[in-house]
Order: sequence, then structure tokens, then C-alpha cells
Amino acid sequence: MRVSRIGIFGGTFDPIHLGHMIIAEQVREELRLERVIFVPGGIPPHKEASSVRATAEDRLEMVEAAVTGNEHFTVDRVEIDAGRPMHTVDTVPILKERSAGEEWFFITGADEVSNLLTWKEPDRLLEEIIMVAATRPGYDLAALGHLEPRLRNFDRIVPVECSRVDISATTIRRRMLQGKSIRYMVPDGVYEIIEDRGLYEGDGRRIEGGSLTEEKTS
Ligand code: ATP
Repeated sequence: MRVSRIGIFGGTFDPIHLGHMIIAEQVREELRLERVIFVPGGIPPHKEASSVRATAEDRLEMVEAAVTGNEHFTVDRVEIDAGRPMHTVDTVPILKERSAGEEWFFITGADEVSNLLTWKEPDRLLEEIIMVAATRPGYDLAALGHLEPRLRNFDRIVPVECSRVDISATTIRRRMLQGKSIRYMVPDGVYEIIEDRGLYEGDGRRIEGGSLTEEKTS
């Protein structure tokens, strides 16, 4: 019988966008994952609380809207319910207890993986799960090489090449503040929530054309 493989995809998802959806789908297919569990974060330990714009519930509902219609995608609110920052190494064992699965994967963008040494207990995390570094075509894997001598479990980082989609949540928030369209950068259901609730519009700080200083840019 085939081993059941489950993927976990954590993020701030402020908001979830097509870059996220495409890597989740392509990694699922490539690694033959039965399911991908999306885990919207409370305020992540490495991000300034003030840089997260939408409420936890709005971000959760956007993720729920995004996964609707894909039978392989589900959402777990463990980090939202915790109401405090959680580290991946603490979240993963909870999710593993909640779901049957024999092999567990954590999906991240390769650029995020290259910062793995700043995460809490990266070696223990790599004992719990296999880390998937979603790369774009042409990505130089040497960019992960500095991790090799520093991690006992470096071989549990696996690159998976995905289509390059140059969208980030930061870009979406910035475009909203500039009054520009974000249609088709996010799934339709997410677009409707953003429009209906007036998310990311800024409080009178919408600017015309010029540069934006108060929004995070990286
Ligand atoms: P922000 O711009 O606010 O930092 P983000 O777009 O990077 O947000 P997150 O929710 O922080 O979104 O990301 C969750 C995960 O998705 C991270 O591992 C990140 O590397 C990955 N990711 C985000 N956007 C893309 C993209 N366009 N292509 C590949 N991976 C992505």
C-alpha cells in the first residue's frame, strides 16, 4: 500500500494569492501528496505584528475561500486559535496528531528555506517533517548550500521546481493602497472578500502613483 503523504503550508496569507495556490498545487502533484493543509498564522514570530494588515479571521476566511473546490486542500486554524505567535516546530506535532498521515512535508518558498537557521530548532523540525523548498525555474540550489554544514538533517530539505509567479502579499497590499487592481492576482473568492470588506484600502493613506513609505516593502 502506498504511504500516505501530507503537506503543511504555513503562511501569514495577508492575503493568500496565486503564487501560494500554484506552489501548493504543483508540490502536491510532484510529491503525490494526498492532502495539503493550509495553516494561516497568528502573528508569526519573525514578523512585526504591525506589518500584518488583515485580522486573523479575515485571513482565515480568505484561505478558506481560496481552497474551496480543491478536494486535496484543507485549512487548519490551530495557529489562529492559539492567539499567540507559534513556531513551526511547535505547530507541526499538533497537526500530526490531528490527522492520519505517514510522511509529512512542510511547503515553503526556497528563499524562506535559506533562512532556516533563524527558525526555532531547525534540526528538530527536520526530524518531524521533510522541508520542501519550492524553487522557481533557474533557481540556483547553491543558495541553500550554506545550510549543509550547519544542519544535521540537511538531506531532509527537498527542492521542487515550480512555475515562477512573481506575486507577493506585499505587492498586493501596496497595489491596494495605490488604488490599483489586484484582480486575477488572487482567487476570485478572495477578491470578493477583499472588495466586500474593504481590506487593505488603508485609512486615508491611499496614494496616487508616487512611492509609498509606510508599507513594508520586503
Ligand atoms: P509578504 O509579502 O507579506 O511577506 P508572502 O507573499 O511572502 O507575504 P507568506 O504568507 O509570508 O506570503 O508566504 C507563505 C509562504 O509562501 C512562504 O514560504 C513564501 O516563501 C511562499 N511564497 C509566497 N509567495 C510566493 C510566490 N510568488 N512563489 C513562491 N513561493 C511563494
